[in-house]
Amino acid sequence: MKSYRKELWFSTGKRRAFINITREVEACLRESGIREGLALVNAMHITASVFINDDESGLHQDYEQWLEHLAPHAPVSQYQHNRTGEDNGDAHLKRQIMGRDVVVAITAGKLDFGPWEQIFYGEFDGRRKKRVLVKIIGE
Ligand code: ZN
Repeated sequence: MKSYRKELWFSTGKRRAFINITREVEACLRESGIREGLALVNAMHITASVFINDDESGLHQDYEQWLEHLAPHAPVSQYQHNRTGEDNGDAHLKRQIMGRDVVVAITAGKLDFGPWEQIFYGEFDGRRKKRVLVKIIGE
C-alpha cells in the first residue's frame, strides 16, 4: 500500500470564506500516483472546516446567512468561550456544524465524486495562515 501526506496552506483576507480546493486535492492525487484508494482531507484547525457541496455562489451566501443565524459572531460577549479573551466562539460552533473532514473514494486515478460535488475549505476565523491535511492511501 502506498501512502501520501501533504499540508495545504490558506490565508484568507476576511474572517470568513469558502475556498474551492478541489484542484489542489486533484494535484495531490496526481503527485501520489495512487489509482485506487481513499483520500482524507481535513482542516487542521478548530475554527475551520472541510466539506463537500456544490460550487454555487447562492448556496455559499445561504451557508453564510444560515451559520450567522445559528451562531452570530456578535455580540462576542454571548459566548462563554470568549471569556478566555478570544473573540472566535462563533467560529468553533460554525466549524462543528460544517464538519472537520471529508473522505473521497479514488477510482482509476480520479476523485470519485457524485454529480456537482466539489471540496471546500470553510474558514470561520481567518486573517492568518491555516492548514489543511491531505492524506491519500491505496495502490
Ligand atoms: Zn477560540
